[in-house]
Amino acid sequence: MIENENKLILFCGPSGSGKTTIVHHLLEINSQFSFSVSATTRKKRSNETDGKDYYFLDLEEFKKKIEQDEFIEWEEVYESGFYGTLKSEINRIASLGKYVIFDVDVEGGLKIKKLFGPSLLAVFVMPPSIEDLKKRLKSRATETQSDLMNRLKKAELELTYHNHFDKVIINKDLDESLREAQNLVEKFIEK
Ligand code: 5GP
Repeated sequence: MIENENKLILFCGPSGSGKTTIVHHLLEINSQFSFSVSATTRKKRSNETDGKDYYFLDLEEFKKKIEQDEFIEWEEVYESGFYGTLKSEINRIASLGKYVIFDVDVEGGLKIKKLFGPSLLAVFVMPPSIEDLKKRLKSRATETQSDLMNRLKKAELELTYHNHFDKVIINKDLDESLREAQNLVEKFIEK
């Protein structure tokens, strides 16, 4: 069961769009926001911490949680990885009285949006172009060539869903996008 009466904020957008940077910024400037730490089977990157960026699980552990109905949503986002939002995570944040911030893929985002309705602000972060996204993913250098191709293929499809979201941020200039995101969420929680 999910017990949440507070507002929630969702950031979606293709891998490399800058949504995680935006989410980290919001978490830094406002202690009332709390990140919904997803579970994943993908390998931990060197700059990530278990329990902070993700709960890193092996496939068996992840599948057990699916069977036990512990997720509000889960996806096999890339061939190599399952990702999912745990019910316990939403309850943990609700018990702190904070606003949940999600950073999930588009399919997961649309499921979460349906689940929480008007209590949730759904923001889509777009790169200015596919070319720009390619550049960003390459410079990040966290993926293998085949992972990179998978991410780009998925990004092209995800971009077509931007009009299903409440707000769209075109991330051309990062400082500008951070300001825009801050304005949007502050206005939403003050409503
Ligand atoms: P990354 O491997 O770059 O951290 O994430 C890959 C994609 O999975 C991103 O689009 C990220 O937003 C998405 N993602 C992260 N957590 C979840 C989740 O719990 N559910 C879903 N559906 N997608 C997620």
